[in-house]
Amino acid sequence: SNKPKILVLGAGYAGMMTTKRLSQQLRPDEADITLVNKHNYHYLTTWLHEVAAGTATPNSSRVMISDVINTKRVQLHFDAVVEIKKDEQRVILENGELSYDYLVIALGFETATFGIPGIKEHALKIENIDSSRHIRDHIEFQFARYSSGAETSEDAFNILVGGAGFTGIEFVGELAKRVPELCKEYNIDRKKVRIINVEAAPTILPGFDDDLVEYAQNSLEERGIEFRIGAKIQECTEDGFIIGDDHEKVNAGTVVWTGGVQANPVVSQSGFDIIKGKVTVNNDLRVPNHDNIFIIGDCSWVMDKENDRPFPANAQSAIQEAETCATNIKALLRKEALQDFSFDYKGTVASLGGSDAMGTIFDDKKLYGMKAKAMKNVIDDRYLYLVGGPKLVLKKGKVKFF
Ligand code: FAD
Ligand code: NAD
Repeated sequence: SNKPKILVLGAGYAGMMTTKRLSQQLRPDEADITLVNKHNYHYLTTWLHEVAAGTATPNSSRVMISDVINTKRVQLHFDAVVEIKKDEQRVILENGELSYDYLVIALGFETATFGIPGIKEHALKIENIDSSRHIRDHIEFQFARYSSGAETSEDAFNILVGGAGFTGIEFVGELAKRVPELCKEYNIDRKKVRIINVEAAPTILPGFDDDLVEYAQNSLEERGIEFRIGAKIQECTEDGFIIGDDHEKVNAGTVVWTGGVQANPVVSQSGFDIIKGKVTVNNDLRVPNHDNIFIIGDCSWVMDKENDRPFPANAQSAIQEAETCATNIKALLRKEALQDFSFDYKGTVASLGGSDAMGTIFDDKKLYGMKAKAMKNVIDDRYLYLVGGPKLVLKKGKVKFF
């Protein structure tokens, strides 16, 4: 058709919500909409630590895209993006290519290694459903191998987690719940299994509220998590980390790296300017000097001009950016003025495993324990509602109604 073509790359929080809003807000005669994603499912990235620990299953943490996107209005294209030829308005896929008039890049993050030797080769990563499932299977394999009588090293049960940001902390929280279950199942003494979280900064969750940090650390230590803080990981080997100024070797059968994230590598490979791992976009979410390309979610930084630093890049901001992105594409099509993104910060709540959690909501009101956990479940379900309505909340939701 001669209609303008809108291409959305990536069906994560940012890409799904942009596509959803475009399909609701644009008349069919205004534009064709195509959503490209590697898989035919959308996964809940914010639940991946549960998949990695084995406290949630891969299937409970993903949604078929065709179940929640209007396929009469949106063409779904399941293929991997390889490169964006921005000067030719084309996108190269593993099995073909597509052209566009308007492009939304929402390909999410990859784990950043910061050039630390051995991380890329040896560490497991919480990046997507498959890499997270691999961690769960790897941990269980250590138990299964031992109980089948195979010869294993003394450290085989140790689980090392590199980085105590929110991902590392939420992951060890799930392990605190999962490991006792595995010990029971395989008849292994819980004391044999050490879970060690290594952090370079002087505290876990650097930069977060002191009271909440202290609460999280106490709660996790009480459930058997060991912390090594102020200990920079210098190198990763097949069987552990080398940490701190004295290059101490810590051994483990399972080594997971949660040390930070950066834009999907497709973005840098396509020649966009990368600063601190991501593309800094204009406040209307477009790439400087490319009036028809938007980059949102974990691939970009949006500057908070009032505070002279970028807005946080998380699921909360990705969803809000999607609203602005859809509104601005509509404005371009209708030759109206574009809006600047403004972040409506609703707080941060992190789970600590089981029924424990902590965080802040609204104007820095602090929540702890079961109250925080209930709020976390509400936040998770609110997103399911946004993307798939009440049907999806009933099917996959965390709040128990009955
Ligand atoms: P993603 O959600 O990562 O989606 C990217 C999509 O692109 C995926 O569907 C992927 O399959 C697809 N894709 C990737 N490469 C290609 C390719 N080459 N071709 C085609 N498709 C591709 N934030 C919060 O606000 N609150 C939380 O509680 C929270 N918890 C988190 C817990 C964990 C364990 C992690 C890892 C992150 C958490 N975050 C949280 C951060 C949040 O998940 C991210 O900021 C958010 O997922 C970014 O959304 P996105 O749409 O940019 O990317
Ligand atoms: P992060 O960058 O927030 O944390 C990485 C941690 O690793 C930091 O504490 C850093 O000091 C540490 N680190 C880096 N290099 C190290 C080294 N060499 N040795 C030891 N420690 C090292 O990354 P993340 O935790 O993956 O989070 C990514 C994004 O997702 C963030 O924006 C985060 O807020 C968001 N997120 C939010 C939630 C939530 O709201 N509940 C949960 C998970 C992730």
